[in-house]
Amino acid sequence: MKRSPAHHSVLPETAGPVVGRVETLLVDLPTIRPHKLSVATMDGQTLMLVKVHCSDGITGIGEGTTIGGLAYGGESPESMKLAIDTYFAPLMVGQDATRVQALMARIGKMVKENRFAKCAVETALLDAHGKRLGLPVSELLGGRRRDRLPVAWTLASGDTGRDIAEAERMLDLRRHNIFKLKIGARPLAEDIAHVARIKAALGGRGSVRVDINMAWDEMEAACGMAALADAGCELVEQPVATAPGLARLVRRFPIALMADESLTGPESAFELARVHGADVFAVKLEQSGGAFNALRVAAIADAAGIALYGGTMLEGAVGTIIAAHAFATFPNLQWGTELFGPLLLTEEILTAPLEYSDFSLTIPSGPGLGITLDDDRVAFFARDGFHRKNAT
Ligand SMILES: [Mg+2]
Repeated sequence: MKRSPAHHSVLPETAGPVVGRVETLLVDLPTIRPHKLSVATMDGQTLMLVKVHCSDGITGIGEGTTIGGLAYGGESPESMKLAIDTYFAPLMVGQDATRVQALMARIGKMVKENRFAKCAVETALLDAHGKRLGLPVSELLGGRRRDRLPVAWTLASGDTGRDIAEAERMLDLRRHNIFKLKIGARPLAEDIAHVARIKAALGGRGSVRVDINMAWDEMEAACGMAALADAGCELVEQPVATAPGLARLVRRFPIALMADESLTGPESAFELARVHGADVFAVKLEQSGGAFNALRVAAIADAAGIALYGGTMLEGAVGTIIAAHAFATFPNLQWGTELFGPLLLTEEILTAPLEYSDFSLTIPSGPGLGITLDDDRVAFFARDGFHRKNAT
């Protein structure tokens, strides 16, 4: 005899607020200058913004970005929008908006991969729930340990003289004193000379790190890391593509080795820790699949004695601030952050800009993410919003 499932339904009775509507839009914003990486040159950034409207009248916002369209990974802003509209939204509508982790688990069962889109949606749910409870998201993530985060700046104009002038301006403004150089696209000797000239110009006033974005083979990396250490560079980020490759390079040279692209969430973090593939992890919320997974990556790093750095997917203000809330809770954040994404964009999309001062970003203390979108400006830059509606 079969029992009727109706007598022991596992579906909770939801009396509280539920997800009502999920809205997505693409926002195209110009950058202050071309941003040259070994994988791509960016002249603008596209933000995929998601708004989760709940039945109690509260709306949460989230953001997804990539670096150079599809040049960095499997998701693009356009694919995130499609995935959320078509597959995420039907799983979310009508569900308890107050159970963020349970709702993300429900999505996770039906949606494989799509870490960036999951991060955007989780951000919006956390923002809404924080506003509902009157708490900053950092408190929902376990409690903040710091209110300000050191922020590195990336020098990536492609021109040594221009990069030095840019670094000097940042030091004068007291906005950044940690500089990351994007190298790997040019011959090794040219890249090393570029780094050495910048470090020599800055001296002890600024620290210099490099990001290869996987462009080197192992032999180039061995030569490059030795020369970079001699040039006074303190850290090299993802010189080669694979975890075993990183493991063969780590601790061979007096320069810290950081994993970035290889780090795609807790499983890869565990594998990198297992093979001793890095001195430092660049934790990115989108790469991790959201804030909760980023906390898991940080816990693995701490347990393995690997230092931590708060990375960026060149997010705008929304993606930057969810990352700031998560990094604020990390027990260790030895290498600071690179949460400069909004500063690379020419346009402000918040009603009140983020506060960058004294080489740090201040984490907002209001409920939720603690930021407010300027809806008129967002509409103006929306790809299919303002422009299409007003076209005649
Ligand atoms: Mg990187």
